Amino acid sequence: MSPRPLLFLLLTSLLSACQPATEPTRIEGRTMGTFYAVTLADPFPGGQQALQQQVDALLVKLNHEISTYEPDSDISRFNQAKDALAHPIPSDMAKIVEQGITAGQVTKGLLDVTVGPLVNLWGFGPDKRPVKTPDEAAIAAARERVGIDKLHLTRQGEQFMLSKDHPDLYLDLSTLGEGAGSDAVAALLDKAGIQNYLIELAGAVRSKGHNPKGKPWRIAIVDPSDKPGAFQGIVTPKGMAVSTAGSYRNYYELDGQRYSHIIDPRTGRPIAHKLVSATVITPTALEADAYDTALMVMGPDEAMAFAKARQMAVYLIVKGDKGFEARYTPQFEPYLAK
Ligand code: ADP
Ligand code: MG
Repeated sequence: MSPRPLLFLLLTSLLSACQPATEPTRIEGRTMGTFYAVTLADPFPGGQQALQQQVDALLVKLNHEISTYEPDSDISRFNQAKDALAHPIPSDMAKIVEQGITAGQVTKGLLDVTVGPLVNLWGFGPDKRPVKTPDEAAIAAARERVGIDKLHLTRQGEQFMLSKDHPDLYLDLSTLGEGAGSDAVAALLDKAGIQNYLIELAGAVRSKGHNPKGKPWRIAIVDPSDKPGAFQGIVTPKGMAVSTAGSYRNYYELDGQRYSHIIDPRTGRPIAHKLVSATVITPTALEADAYDTALMVMGPDEAMAFAKARQMAVYLIVKGDKGFEARYTPQFEPYLAK
């Protein structure tokens, strides 16, 4: 036998051994009223279809715990119960509630997972949009039911329990949902032994390892001007979670005024300032997703002071007289692609 075919054989077997390891896998889908995409630099055990099925099943399960749009989700059943009893809740939901309460305390109530009545009053959330601006009395009535101090997370052995002081308290975890979902998908991929992935659940990103080209993952922080292909900055997450909240994606106009879906619990009204987006980098997407919303409530100056005092990696886009301006903390700098 001449060496040639052997070399050929060797090469083909080497190639077939290598090929699956470099073949990227990508799936996309919808969840929580938005989109998600998962990209792996490697194949998934069972293939793309198996990945899609497992990710979808996981997100459906999570929604069944924390979606206020599902009448029989755990959160909806808690909201419907007009009592002060301790209700058992699943541990995944408890983790999200816990993060909501912690971030609520740290931000002195600016992140408030009980702000739902105000969200609904201003026309965001499961109820309809208002045809006119809510009046003072309606805002005051809604605020009676709002406040993180009215919500109590406890434990009985392994079982998490949730109770409320006000019968009409309304829990709204939607601002943490994307982060929680992104973390849950990351846990699934980690468990399957996947070393290189990028998970994007709307504004909440998790990543690990490298992209299909063997390079660091890169994600764009989008320019709010909405110009096709425009962006403000490129981030290399380096295995960390990145979450962005913005006032420019979800809003409506009424009588010439723009109303954001982010509510300032101090006023009971939608935010009104020049901060258009806040991006936070932390180890988990759940944590980043909690603080990006809180920073959006604060506005540009307070958000920057808060981030600096806590040495957080934060990137803000602020609307200035001459267009949009990026401001970031020193902790964010190592993640900015040059
Ligand atoms: P974005 O789409 O900008 O990333 P999210 O979807 O993460 O924002 O969060 C916005 C949602 O959070 C609102 O639709 C509302 O349900 C809820 N929300 C609004 N204001 C607050 C607040 N101050 N604290 C907690 N949740 C809020
Ligand atoms: Mg958020």
